[in-house]
Amino acid sequence: MNRQFRNILIMGLGMGITFNSCTSNNTGGQQSTASADSVDSLQTYVNNRLPIYENVKLTADMQSLSESERKMIPLLIQAAQIMDELFWKQAYPQKDSLLNTIKDDKAREFFTMNYGPWDRLNGDKPFINGIGPKPEGAGFYPIGMTKEELEKSDVKDKKGQYSVIRRNASGKLESIPYHVIYKDELQKASGLLKQAAELAEDAGLKKYLNLRAEALTSSNYTASDYAWMDMKNNGIDIIIGPIENYEDKLFSARSSFESYVLIKDKQWSQRLAKYVTMLPELQKGLPVEEKYKAEKPGTDSDLNAYDIVYYAGDCNAGSKTIAVNLPNDEDIQQKKGTRRSQLKNAMRAKFDKILVPIANELIDKEQQQYIKFDAFFSNVMFHEVAHGLGIKSTVNGKGYVRAALQEQNSWLEEGKADILGLYMVTSLLKKGELQGDIKDYYTTFMAGILRSVRFGAASAHGKANMQCFNFFKEKGAFERTSNGTYKVNFEKFATAMNDLSKVILTLQGNGDKTAVEKVEKDYAIIPAELQSDLNRLGEKGIPVDIVFEQGIDVLGLK
Ligand SMILES: [Zn+2]
Repeated sequence: MNRQFRNILIMGLGMGITFNSCTSNNTGGQQSTASADSVDSLQTYVNNRLPIYENVKLTADMQSLSESERKMIPLLIQAAQIMDELFWKQAYPQKDSLLNTIKDDKAREFFTMNYGPWDRLNGDKPFINGIGPKPEGAGFYPIGMTKEELEKSDVKDKKGQYSVIRRNASGKLESIPYHVIYKDELQKASGLLKQAAELAEDAGLKKYLNLRAEALTSSNYTASDYAWMDMKNNGIDIIIGPIENYEDKLFSARSSFESYVLIKDKQWSQRLAKYVTMLPELQKGLPVEEKYKAEKPGTDSDLNAYDIVYYAGDCNAGSKTIAVNLPNDEDIQQKKGTRRSQLKNAMRAKFDKILVPIANELIDKEQQQYIKFDAFFSNVMFHEVAHGLGIKSTVNGKGYVRAALQEQNSWLEEGKADILGLYMVTSLLKKGELQGDIKDYYTTFMAGILRSVRFGAASAHGKANMQCFNFFKEKGAFERTSNGTYKVNFEKFATAMNDLSKVILTLQGNGDKTAVEKVEKDYAIIPAELQSDLNRLGEKGIPVDIVFEQGIDVLGLK
């Protein structure tokens, strides 16, 4: 991310809180430190920022589980907690030494929920004196290493997904695999998964847990990813390991540790299953030139609903994930498709505590009737399905889109999923495969944009929604009324949706990083007028995100 752009965004994301001009003296380049950044006193900052989070107890119906499943959950949660520890090492290895200097409980809580001293939902603004800007390479690379240095080096594993880069004693760069550098933790987690596997009644789950246990200690995840895709009848699930690459903002290459402990909602899952069979047909109908939609999406994909009982690591940092599309391995995706996991209880919490209050404030009075949970659920669900649509390999021999676009890939891919998700909703409604009124889906989507731009530019989802907002505004898909509310123009909304789908798929298919950087600069920003509207949400105390009270106690398993 270029410096100037980042500054604009950080300034734009005040969210109604007055900062001492946080960035005006911060344009001198990478060397600026937190003292030049004049951070407010920690306590004042935390008192202002903590209320943007609403606490939610993460519970689920434990009665639906068998006795052995109930015994497995605590083991899985313990394994997840190890992923949390490891994510700390990746995001901010100095956790303990800094935490020891923070006395105030609220400040400790804020530091902990941010996994470090940078405010994730405020453009990674440092909130502790003496802390400079967040290193783009987080803890994956040595401090001060530039992209060029690594590119020019003879390190074999330059863009490795499962290794860190360190300097050896003579200052030379080298890569160290996760299973070597984090050996103790990973072996412990592996042991817990094996214990859980012994309790597993479902053969697919047993196999997956055993293979995942192996993967953690070898950094070879392929077999366990296949086993995970093959597993269909399990009542509980765990997503665990180094998975997403959002935290590596230098190369978008290295994966962060995380875990989700899940209980499947079998009834909902059945309702969702039928949509997967429709993927190839929907791919054909994409509003883009033929060559950008020639790939065939996998059809043995799964679409399941879950209640989540534990979040750990990357997915618990910044804006909380409410739907997951995995695995990320493009080869497996092409052979097996993906599994899209909708986290129903977390979604409901975000809808009730955030989306509805936002809509009450920012959506035109007449259109508030269209804000509905079913529409929200579908929009999020089809966002995940839409990750499987579109294009994975460039059309001009530049290899995978992800590799060609590097650090520009994540946010654009999220934008793609948002817009193609809406395209799918529109198509399925027309075919009669989905129930409801298009006005519900579009108005709820609009409210969803206003919710997600608040995640800020440090979040791929935040940026994606800024792009969508500005593009839609340009196309007249909505208007801002004189009283500062947003009113959807349903016809133009559909046109803008098709136009933006085409723009994004073409950018991805061409693998043209420079072109994406230009789009980022022009569109992935918060205009002043929108910022002043978002400030109203802050003033009214409408939370930006949720944080979880979670664990074995909360579930009543102790
Ligand atoms: Zn996504």
